[in-house]
Amino acid sequence: MDGSVFLDNVVMRFGDFTAIERTSLAIESGEFFSFLGPSGCGKTTILNMISGFLTPTEGQVKIGGESMIGVPVNRRPTAMIFQNLALFPLMSVFENIEFGLEVRGVSKRQRREVSERLLALVALEGSGAKQVAELSGGQKQRIAIARALAVEPRVLLLDEPLSALDLKLRQHMRAELKAIQRKTGITFIYITHDQGEALTMSDRVAVMSAGRIQQVADPMTLYRAPQTGFVASFVGENNRIETRVLDREGPRVRLDGGALGELAGRAAVGDSVPLANGEPAALYVRPEHLRPVNRAHSGPRLAATIEAVHFEGAWLMLEARLDASGEKLRIQLGSELAKQAAGTLEPGKQATFGYDPEDAVVLPDDGSPVIDEDTGEVLE
Ligand code: ATP
Repeated sequence: MDGSVFLDNVVMRFGDFTAIERTSLAIESGEFFSFLGPSGCGKTTILNMISGFLTPTEGQVKIGGESMIGVPVNRRPTAMIFQNLALFPLMSVFENIEFGLEVRGVSKRQRREVSERLLALVALEGSGAKQVAELSGGQKQRIAIARALAVEPRVLLLDEPLSALDLKLRQHMRAELKAIQRKTGITFIYITHDQGEALTMSDRVAVMSAGRIQQVADPMTLYRAPQTGFVASFVGENNRIETRVLDREGPRVRLDGGALGELAGRAAVGDSVPLANGEPAALYVRPEHLRPVNRAHSGPRLAATIEAVHFEGAWLMLEARLDASGEKLRIQLGSELAKQAAGTLEPGKQATFGYDPEDAVVLPDDGSPVIDEDTGEVLE
């Protein structure tokens, strides 16, 4: 069962507006693959091209190596789970799961066998006779999965299916979805603007912005080695410091750090992307990689004035502003460091922060967008 999906030079235009710029991408059979990006970046458009609800303006989609040109939605080896689940509330669980099979003329006995098996898979044995309206949000979610799997798709397309659930259930369902994907071996293609979802469940993630794929990588690589300013800012939290290249030797980049001496970081981009001497660059350091150091510290140092201190239980989040440039800096201190720092790190005080250059990424200064942390919207 080949559930590979290949986007072969697809472009999607709506009138004059290009929703998806030319894109080629291979998703492997059995992969849990996510498209992650802010609202309006084109995630749903990509999913709709795969499902057949939209026909690409140029290029084609291949599933299992076969061209889907001219293949309608109901003849594709795909099934979809929508944000609102689209279950039939007044029908029983059995009827919901078996709906697609009934349409295909599968016998009642076979249908029941399939739905019993799928109810066991989603851990809802014995609830087939219940009405959907009687079920909880998480149970409905599982029925939607069972219904989608009943027609034996090679590829399951999921359009933000967890967004209607409360936080706790959402987190629980992430693990369930991942487990179901592993058990069935079906290709899951998941779209979300929630990076937590994409990072925890996916084998690989495509980060999208404005109709373009910015980077495709496994979650750890996206976090450790973002290739663009957009990815560095959108995936996890990052401080962005504008600076200038002093010199680059392979992955090592020395940067102008102003009065406190040099800064340093790791080039996440290959040698083909120039970070030439004297060029502007952006240094990205995550809040959890910064720690207070004294002014004699020999590694890179950032001098900042603290503006606010937030106690967040397991850690302390400091908001500060760099003395040299006025840029914002956020510092996350684990409980041990926070204890040691008690009394010294307070609003209005100056402090020096250091980091390991291996933990900081240097990228060409591409004037990365500012992204709202809560909504994922691109603000500028
Ligand atoms: P969201 O998370 O908000 O659903 P998205 O990333 O899924 O966003 P899409 O729905 O794929 O984004 O839309 C991408 C862009 O294409 C948007 O600017 C949208 O307005 C535009 N668009 C989508 N469908 C159409 C259409 N049928 N006609 C015109 N423009 C469209």
